[in-house]
Amino acid sequence: MSDTHTHRVIPLQDLRPSSHALPAAALDDRLRLSPTGTLADTRGRALRDLRISVTDRCNFRCSYCMPKEVFDKNYSYLPHGDLLSFEEITRVVKVFISHGVQKIRLTGGEPLLRKNLSRLVEQLAALRTAEGRPLDLTLTTNGALLARQAQSLKDAGLQRVTVSLDALDDAIFRQMNDVDFPVADVLAGIEAARAVGLGPIKINMVVKRGTNAQQILPMARHFRGSGMVLRFIEYMDVGATNGWRMDEVLPSAEVIALLQQELPLLPLEPSQPGETAQRWGFADAEGRHDVTAGELGVISSVTQAFCRDCNRARLSTEGQLYLCLFAEKGYDLRHLLRGGANDTILASAIGHIWQGRGDRYSELRSAQPADIASTTRRVEMSYIGG
Ligand code: SAM
Ligand code: SF4
Ligand code: SF4
Repeated sequence: MSDTHTHRVIPLQDLRPSSHALPAAALDDRLRLSPTGTLADTRGRALRDLRISVTDRCNFRCSYCMPKEVFDKNYSYLPHGDLLSFEEITRVVKVFISHGVQKIRLTGGEPLLRKNLSRLVEQLAALRTAEGRPLDLTLTTNGALLARQAQSLKDAGLQRVTVSLDALDDAIFRQMNDVDFPVADVLAGIEAARAVGLGPIKINMVVKRGTNAQQILPMARHFRGSGMVLRFIEYMDVGATNGWRMDEVLPSAEVIALLQQELPLLPLEPSQPGETAQRWGFADAEGRHDVTAGELGVISSVTQAFCRDCNRARLSTEGQLYLCLFAEKGYDLRHLLRGGANDTILASAIGHIWQGRGDRYSELRSAQPADIASTTRRVEMSYIGG
């Protein structure tokens, strides 16, 4: 780097760390693991949910995820040949299904930037679980390109979408996406998704104290009774670039207390095991759940660890398998895929990797936040997907 550079350049290898070696048993023919659809890790957790990052690029620069100072014009994104192709993704997904995966979430970066994404959706929508059911197939997007793509995604077989929206106020929204993108266009995207039937739609709002907390009530009022489920997410210490500080986290308990002052809520049961959000229903005058008003959720990733039921794996843009959102390294499945491994070997490798999983980052952080946050070197969320 020349002396004239004043900005900070993070070397690529810092953000995309080397991989774990495959567990020795993974490639040993005598220990071949055939899929049974009921894989369990070292803490007895099944593998049910696979999140796939289809691009490491994004058209937003949310400071909590891809801050401008790091993801600037000098940042080297992955070359196209390093990305898993749609055929490779579909092949890996089939193997994951054989191990019990039932839900696929496409994410990124911004997934709608991946060229011809509908083709991938079409291929995944054609797959069936061991019980013969279609996958629960969904996508998380910032919504900027959704109005344009909603119909083709629906036609390709996408079931629903989650749209990230951090504010209704245009100035706050533009400031948070940091590329001056207007909120009206995301709202138009949400409306397009609703109109074509990509629902039930979830809306994710990352709450940062001092940045968008004043938007909590307007957001709740706006989405109450809309049929969409708004979820407030605690600002997390993902990656290594967002300069996370605990004092910017607004605990979900405070979000709920704030909402209760104007919009009475009552807790609802989880709808499925491993669900990340705690559900709250809007109450009617008698204190019962008003189903026409609907529900909202809080995701307390920082203040209330939910590792105990975590059944999620993540596949990075270049085919690294991550067992935890906060993992430092992944397992290189692309190397296996492109090295000629057949599906039996691939299934055995994935099986052994999951069986060796013990990750529970959030639980450990709750126990000793200072230690763990400062000693780990985590991968970026835009790379492995949220
Ligand atoms: N670009 C898409 C989007 O924003 O919806 C998909 C990828 S994004 C990484 C997935 C989700 O992660 C988004 O809902 C985003 O708000 C959330 N996210 C990113 N960084 C976060 C952080 N530091 N804390 C909490 N949530 C975060
Ligand atoms: Fe892009 Fe989504 Fe990250 Fe925002 S949260 S920078 S929209 S990937
Ligand atoms: Fe799952 Fe890791 Fe999050 Fe715990 S910290 S819930 S193991 S992704």
